[in-house]
Amino acid sequence: MTVSIALFTQDLRLHDNPVLHAAHTAADQVVPLFVLDPAVEGAGFAAPNRLAFLSDCLADLDASLRRAGSRLTVRRGATAEQTAKVAAEAGAGTVHVAAGVSAFAHRREERLREVFGDRLHVHDASLTVVPAGRITPAGRDHYAVFTPYHRAWRQAPHRGVLAAPRVIRTPDGIGSENLVFRGPLSPSLPHGGERAGRELRRRWDVDAYADVHDDLAADATSRLSPYLHFGCLSATELTAGALQRGGPGAEAFVRQLAWRDFHHQVLAARPDAAHRDYRTRDDRWHRDEREAEAWRQGRTGYPIIDAGMRQLAEEGWMHNRARLLTASFLTKSLYLDWRIGAAHFLSLLVDGDIAVNQLNWQWVAGTGTDTRPNRVLNPLRQADRYDPTGDYVRRWVPELAHLPGPSVHRPWLLDGDYPPPIVAPEDLTARFQHGRPVLGAGE
Ligand code: FAD
Repeated sequence: MTVSIALFTQDLRLHDNPVLHAAHTAADQVVPLFVLDPAVEGAGFAAPNRLAFLSDCLADLDASLRRAGSRLTVRRGATAEQTAKVAAEAGAGTVHVAAGVSAFAHRREERLREVFGDRLHVHDASLTVVPAGRITPAGRDHYAVFTPYHRAWRQAPHRGVLAAPRVIRTPDGIGSENLVFRGPLSPSLPHGGERAGRELRRRWDVDAYADVHDDLAADATSRLSPYLHFGCLSATELTAGALQRGGPGAEAFVRQLAWRDFHHQVLAARPDAAHRDYRTRDDRWHRDEREAEAWRQGRTGYPIIDAGMRQLAEEGWMHNRARLLTASFLTKSLYLDWRIGAAHFLSLLVDGDIAVNQLNWQWVAGTGTDTRPNRVLNPLRQADRYDPTGDYVRRWVPELAHLPGPSVHRPWLLDGDYPPPIVAPEDLTARFQHGRPVLGAGE
């Protein structure tokens, strides 16, 4: 009787799971294993909101495995050592795991390789649609610009979608721990897990996406990001489904999934970009903890910025357009270090992802892959454009709910009680301009 271990990481699903599929095909019995590694917490990946979501994911995965005749083994400790223990208990010959892109994932894989040697099988097409490093421009190890990456990504072969195994045999007597997590920080978190993710995908209308994805009040994006982050849903399966459906909405959605892959391949090649400028401009960031705190609290005096920050606190999630605006405001208008903002996002986002978060922050800050690093998003013009009715602001900033229509974006003209803007509207680009010679007028 041969036994293999399917070591789950950010692929907490049965459908289209190359790791589970390979472990299941390679041996008579499979031990589905998840290890909560304290180093994950040390690396800042684990925040209460994500741990709460993770705990739903693990419960759901266990329930699905039980329906297939198996169950999930959960352990806490260093991944390689815990996996070795389980392998010894189960008499497992091989270990299957997905390739990751972060410095932490690289270290984990190295350590697993030291322990298991060629009994370790790493599957690189689990996390992203096109594995990091699979497509490269001539003479470079990764793409630094999205448009050519996207072109190559569309032409690259995408692997076929794998069915969920119907029956999984698992050896008896492998003990599992009960993980107890602290409660979430945000009161309105989504429910985690593969079933919740598939249900959300089924109900969501991709056809309307192209027209409404930037409309803040419509809130009509997929909200699939936490399910993608934990791998409750496979990016490959979502892409294949959308391409099959076709149409502008599906095309626009697939483009966003390509952005996700893009940031992953950047981080895989440059793991230090999680903390250091990808392309430094030698910024001399302004320092002001009082301003940083006003931004975190959603009290900048700019209702569109404050609305985004309050949505983040309440839901552990923020609309993409609001992420762009709040990040631009912090890094370009207040000219505070992008790491301050990225750390705050990571402390709350239920989809908080080291590749996607840090590299989007760098993109907005102008230290990353944006080909127009000097663009400054003007929060007032952006509010008029992406929240023309003011409904998004009224939803998240209830003390301004009495202000009608778009007047809500400029409360200083109408309401003396709201905090005044921490940087004057005419100075929104001033700090960033200092030392930056050429600037557009702001968008
Ligand atoms: P949809 O619009 O429905 O898009 C579908 C999927 O495509 C998303 O679920 C996501 O996986 C991917 N995607 C969408 N936009 C992007 C993007 N710009 N870059 C990479 N992938 C994208 N996304 C995260 O998943 N985790 C993060 O930690 C994160 N931090 C961000 C920080 C900043 C400063 C910015 C500007 C963006 C960040 N994003 C992050 C990207 C984006 O805002 C979210 O993925 C999106 O808002 C999630 O909502 P959705 O699932 O409804 O997205």
